[in-house]
Amino acid sequence: MMKPNMHYADLKDSYLFFHIARKIRAYQDAHPDARLFRMGIGDVSLPLPKAVIDALHEAVDDQADKARFHGYMPEPGAPFLRETIAAHYKKRGVDVSPEEVFVSSGASDELGDLLDLFDRQNRALVIEPAYPAYVDANVIAGRRIIHLPSGEENGFLPEPYLEATAELIYICSPNNPTGAVFTREKLRRWIDFANDNGSVILFDAAYEAYIEDEALPHSIFELEGAKTCAIEVCSLSKTAGFTGTRLGYTIIPKALVRSGLSLNDMWVRNRTTKTNGVSYILQKGGAAVFTDEGQRQIRENIAVYKNNARVLTEALDRCGITYCGGKNAPYIWLRCPDGMGSWAFFDYLLNEIQVVGTPGEGFGACGEGYFRFSTFGSPADTEEAARRLVRLLRKG
Ligand code: PLP
Repeated sequence: MMKPNMHYADLKDSYLFFHIARKIRAYQDAHPDARLFRMGIGDVSLPLPKAVIDALHEAVDDQADKARFHGYMPEPGAPFLRETIAAHYKKRGVDVSPEEVFVSSGASDELGDLLDLFDRQNRALVIEPAYPAYVDANVIAGRRIIHLPSGEENGFLPEPYLEATAELIYICSPNNPTGAVFTREKLRRWIDFANDNGSVILFDAAYEAYIEDEALPHSIFELEGAKTCAIEVCSLSKTAGFTGTRLGYTIIPKALVRSGLSLNDMWVRNRTTKTNGVSYILQKGGAAVFTDEGQRQIRENIAVYKNNARVLTEALDRCGITYCGGKNAPYIWLRCPDGMGSWAFFDYLLNEIQVVGTPGEGFGACGEGYFRFSTFGSPADTEEAARRLVRLLRKG
């Protein structure tokens, strides 16, 4: 008889957003006329920029024309997009060759698929609070997880230490959910640690486009030594509104070698075996993001989310609530007032002011007592949510 992968039974009972959806449904069933203000789930609300839409339309027309039609694309990505992304890194002073760039269907897909590169005996170190998929993907693969908690005392950016070592190290910067961003100095310590121990860092840069402080690194490869210990996973989801369109890219340096095997070569082999490449149309749309006009248009959209962040953080300031994030990241991470637990605060906001956020506990045990707001909502909803927060939580 077929034996299923029993590690699925080790997953915690369900995914965070499933619980939230269930609570919202119950509230709506009881209050059918209530309007909710969703500051929770991390999906964008603005459409794709015009430069991308134009490129997608053109690519659709190519597919209707015998002379311009494209069939299967090269599995690691179309050369035009790999070259465009390598040139984008170069503009930032990071030397990455097109062969080190892999086009993906998004960071989430890639973070799961990449685990094929690593032995099951490897341990995975997850700095928490963390994007829940890091833990779940490794539980499914049967790996041991080392949970490294972070907190206000280290600005949610913990340092490595030998007792909490692992062969795989997840670093998400800017971080979901805390909004914390690794400085060069702090990232350097992890790079040195990984090189010293032969570990590989999976650097999730899904939110790099939100960094505004010039001193903060957008890419781990801005730092020396990263090419021998890191893989960078990027996404156009939050950078350019591709959450429903799906496109991302991953950098695997040629210099990343373990036990005599090149992880770049292994990934080429993996992609040629397990995929037939990302759609030509989407890759054309993705390339438009990196044009001057595309960059200008994505900045306009990001500015809308940044303004939402400003509206929400001003409201929190008025309420005297402690928080971080919102400046170099689209998430605001706050300490629940009056020592409330994360889910208690979730229920309180939902029931009292119909504002929906995300309980911190869903991102790891050390997230208990914290709460995440996303800044991806509509400006009008965000402003109303901010007004309601002030009304409910302002002291005196
Ligand atoms: N990584 C982090 C930290 C995220 O928060 C998300 C999505 O919310 C992803 C990856 C997934 O991005 P994608 O839409 O490219 O799959």
